[in-house]
Amino acid sequence: MAWYCSGSTNNELIENLFKEGLIKDERVKQAMMAVDRGHYAPSRPYSDSPQPIGYGATISAPHMHGHACEYLINHLKPGSRVLDIGSGSGYLTHVLACLAVDTSSSDRPKGQVIGVDHIQELVTLAHDNMMKSKQGKKLLETESVKFIKADGRLGWPEGAPYDAIHVGAAAQELHPLLVEQLRSPGRMFIPVNAEDAQGTLARTVFGGGQYIWVVDKKEDGSIHKEKVFQVSYVPLTDPPK
Ligand code: SAH
Repeated sequence: MAWYCSGSTNNELIENLFKEGLIKDERVKQAMMAVDRGHYAPSRPYSDSPQPIGYGATISAPHMHGHACEYLINHLKPGSRVLDIGSGSGYLTHVLACLAVDTSSSDRPKGQVIGVDHIQELVTLAHDNMMKSKQGKKLLETESVKFIKADGRLGWPEGAPYDAIHVGAAAQELHPLLVEQLRSPGRMFIPVNAEDAQGTLARTVFGGGQYIWVVDKKEDGSIHKEKVFQVSYVPLTDPPK
């Protein structure tokens, strides 16, 4: 169904996703309207499909970015702290900043989004992509958005706790350090490789079963996990040699 929602401009793409019900939340729609995918996807930016960005990474399809934001939306308020692991092109990091950073006052903006990738070239690319727009440049200059080279499986403890954590690559497990870095209340959106009944990773048998898990840390610190839908992401791995 994805490609029916493509457009010839950013606005057309987002309007089509909204019309088809792939984006339902008005704030998510406005945030995705405010960030031009043309600055982030080197080819077919307004197609509702993932596109290669080099180094074995892809910019995810727009409807997946929309779903990720919608699952996290109740934890994305002006002033929220957000961690985006596997930030790749930097597109979603920018959209998350539109939802979490309060730029209304003339003081230092409140709220921050940290984008983490383990490939330095992609950290630089994300930064350069974001510098292409006036709004992106301001978010970087005020340190409302920071891109960092690190192993995302360890999170980024310096910035914790986070109201929301987005993971943009498929993990082997619900990394406990990430759950630890969530605020109470806070929510994580994470693709995880499925295991079969014997505990063997399904991808070794079927070549790739992955599900999005939504992990909630409640006000009292208790953890609630829910498996929500099947996906296909590049893996969260050791950095390439
Ligand atoms: N949200 C990004 C997705 C990029 S693809 C976008 O839409 O542009 C997934 C990214 O995860 C890649 O950039 C890859 O380099 C990164 N990645 C994989 N394993 C990682 C790890 N252990 N730590 C940090 N980043 C990782």
